[in-house]
Amino acid sequence: MSQNWFEVVAECRETRARAGLLHTPHGTIPTPVFMPVGTQATVKGLTQRDLDQDLGVTILLANTYHLYLRPGHELIRQMGGLHRFMSWPHAILTDSGGFQVFSLSSLRKITEQGVVFQSHLNGDAHTFTPESTVDVQLAYGSDILMVLDECPEFPVSHEYARESMHRTVRWANRATKYYNDRISRPEKSPHAPPVQPGAVQALFPIVQGSTFPDLRRECAAALVDLDAPGYAIGGLSVGEPRPLSMQMVEATEDLLPRHKPRYAMGVGMPAELPEYVARGVDMMDCVLPSRNARNGYLFTSGGRLIIKHARYRDDPRPVDEKCQCYTCSSYSRAYLRHLFQAGEMLYSVLATRHNLRRYLDIMREIRQAILSDTFPEYLRCVRAACADAG
Ligand SMILES: [Zn+2]
Repeated sequence: MSQNWFEVVAECRETRARAGLLHTPHGTIPTPVFMPVGTQATVKGLTQRDLDQDLGVTILLANTYHLYLRPGHELIRQMGGLHRFMSWPHAILTDSGGFQVFSLSSLRKITEQGVVFQSHLNGDAHTFTPESTVDVQLAYGSDILMVLDECPEFPVSHEYARESMHRTVRWANRATKYYNDRISRPEKSPHAPPVQPGAVQALFPIVQGSTFPDLRRECAAALVDLDAPGYAIGGLSVGEPRPLSMQMVEATEDLLPRHKPRYAMGVGMPAELPEYVARGVDMMDCVLPSRNARNGYLFTSGGRLIIKHARYRDDPRPVDEKCQCYTCSSYSRAYLRHLFQAGEMLYSVLATRHNLRRYLDIMREIRQAILSDTFPEYLRCVRAACADAG
């Protein structure tokens, strides 16, 4: 792993927050960063040009499980890897597929070897192992790969969570060994190459342990022994109360190496983003900005806006008067409400563009606050606004 793969460029004086630069084969990512979710190699409703040029997205998340089932990793490799296939010039992180196997597929069976599951599309049986999911993600040419993990539902017993966590640690060991072997001998089994010669891809293990701080700490300590280039904290946003998600990050974070990036998977609401950053998180992803946009739920600097409400019927103002996005600079709430009520495709396009812009703006504000040594004040303002909003 290159020495300058991740640089911390500023640290908060009061909290665990830091600003950094993550150097991937497809560009440098300023952190903390929010990664839009492109489940099927597309962020629903937006073109890659929108994401790149309008929104300034530097890294996207794609789903290993979905793309493995359709169109298949071999086809993506033949098409030159995921970046070329979807025409995306910047970085891509792919998850291990573990979360989708455990949340979407029926009839899954976990063994020491891996997990056997039925496709949610046609019922075909498939097997994911720690080794096979590395192969799949190398075929994609992902900049950041995730190890296969078991993501237990909430709640589970301490006993099951411990057994599952130990298996996740064993899988992380196997995946890391296999990955190191494969990238040292790429000629043995072809995979999509990174764009910049010499640039490094990275494989992150995932801290599990359900909602038990002792298991989270044991897992983190075991994974640190792998000397991975970065660490993910998984098993969050699976139905547990939100304060518990935050506590699991707190239980884990001080054990993870300070000079490596930390990724909290699947979080969170806008007001939670600075809270995770304050707890030492550098990377986050969440379907909320895009999914909620399609459902008529818009995030604004003044709080949420439910576009179908009658009060917006003749409202000439933009969704968010402080927002610089294309949607807010061109269209009224009345027009968006009309499109939503009429079930028009353009509604989703415009709403997604705005909501993602809101998330990216929050991350830029957070990073700027850390760089200018004002993050504690920023955090207090966000908390005060939350308290006011009830
Ligand atoms: Zn906007």
